[in-house]
Amino acid sequence: MLHYFPDPYKNETLYSVLARFQYYSANPSMEQTLRDLFDDPTVSSSLFIPTKLNTLVQKLPPNKEYSLENLVYNHTLYPLSHSFFDEASKEKFWLDLSSQKRPYSNTSVQGQELMYCPVCAKMDYENHGEAFFRREHQIKGFTFCCDHYCELLHYPISRNVISGRSYIRFDYDLIHQDSNNSILDFQFEKNLLNIGHSIKYLLNNQISQNDWNNKIQYHLWLIGLTTINGSIKQFELSVAFKEFYTEKNIRLSGFEF
Ligand SMILES: [Zn+2]
Repeated sequence: MLHYFPDPYKNETLYSVLARFQYYSANPSMEQTLRDLFDDPTVSSSLFIPTKLNTLVQKLPPNKEYSLENLVYNHTLYPLSHSFFDEASKEKFWLDLSSQKRPYSNTSVQGQELMYCPVCAKMDYENHGEAFFRREHQIKGFTFCCDHYCELLHYPISRNVISGRSYIRFDYDLIHQDSNNSILDFQFEKNLLNIGHSIKYLLNNQISQNDWNNKIQYHLWLIGLTTINGSIKQFELSVAFKEFYTEKNIRLSGFEF
């Protein structure tokens, strides 16, 4: 049983919570921290979902009312994948997680480096006395804060230079705190910001794969991109997609087609 565990901030990544635990616990070694958290010094510091998360949940202090579901839905990017899973895949995901296996999941939504918005970080530091990594800033290919219309920045410490079993805590003193240069032209980037709001919606709402398919089908039908029998007009969709999102934004997202 842990005697201390930091309360996650709203939308803080689980990785960031564990990094704060490591910092505040002042353990002499990372192995000790991993033993404390997972009873296993070999668990790697995944940005997505650590293996043995169920062990951690069972070790949380009794006054902490965090369940496996609560941590995964509110502090990881799992909800982005969830909307595209069929029921069997969802069931397997939760079964793996509760039986301590590394859960199968679509980790392609997760970026590999830690990102932050300088304005959010400043606000967090002023409100809480510390900054933390927000999950909506860790999405692969989406490097904008849609609350402040600014580009996200790479945290100065790369995950490539630390051990796979260490966590990087958000140290506010290490970042460049002048954010004025990165404000975007709202009109120019409005489509990107629309994507950001959709991402936030997906993160905070549980949508089934069926609902999602029906919504897409309905909206494509509204704009004439389905045939009379419901098939998607692939070529026309590709042209409309590029026109709407612009080549630049598609390239920035790291996708090609
Ligand atoms: Zn922000």
